[in-house]
Amino acid sequence: MSELVKSIGERYLSVLDKIAAAAKRTGRDPGAVRLVVVTKSQPVEVVHAAIEAGAQILGENYPEEGVTKIQFLREFSAVEWHMIGHVQSRKAQLVAQNFNLLHSLDGLKLASRLNRFCEETGRILPTLLEFNVGEEQSKSGWPAWDETRWPELVNDVSAILVLSHLQVRGLMTMPPLGESAEYSRTFFQKIKRLQVFLAERFPQTDFSELSMGTSTDYEVAVEEGATLVRVGTAIVGPRNYKTED
Ligand SMILES: *Cc1c(COP(=O)(O)O)cnc(C)c1O
Repeated sequence: MSELVKSIGERYLSVLDKIAAAAKRTGRDPGAVRLVVVTKSQPVEVVHAAIEAGAQILGENYPEEGVTKIQFLREFSAVEWHMIGHVQSRKAQLVAQNFNLLHSLDGLKLASRLNRFCEETGRILPTLLEFNVGEEQSKSGWPAWDETRWPELVNDVSAILVLSHLQVRGLMTMPPLGESAEYSRTFFQKIKRLQVFLAERFPQTDFSELSMGTSTDYEVAVEEGATLVRVGTAIVGPRNYKTED
């Protein structure tokens, strides 16, 4: 086993342990939380090592980069590929045809383009709806920090639910960067309440997935009900930042 696989494997297992401990602390089933290993901006060798180290779900932020890796690592057919970054409408086809779950659906135009490309290939794309619960204008996701305005979200959500080739599974959020993990807790609680709000309004839809928590705050996210945590640097180490997608 290479040094890289070994060190990624140790960190992967340690994150899994902490997820399990956080779940138990709050009376949750550790098996109800899935770990997405975020490999954006990491070379394909690192992604390969992560798979060898046991990663079962990989998270990518940039469609082209993700698709290149998917094609390169095609032999690992049991691995799931999740798109977790903002998707520009012109990249919809790449996402519709290559990913197993989209965490970051954030607009009607993107939804209808994804639906059309899925229709053409007879695919159903499972997706989460991304909400911005932190009042940062720069963040993507439907604005949802003001709970009194949640009823205004209902129109867009119903417009997405009628799209026959998208299958909504739940919600996703990325809270503002804080000083500590505890800072994220109120945002996680807010998206959890929004999940309950939407589930009540759309009882036919399964909103059970909650994607939240990164390297800095995934344990708090699990305590607050995350079913998917997205952990990058704590497992695969620092990345070279990239701003273009
Ligand atoms: C990069 C990224 C992550 C992982 O962040 P780390 O700090 O490396 O764990 C999670 N979610 C999203 C949406 C990201 O862009």
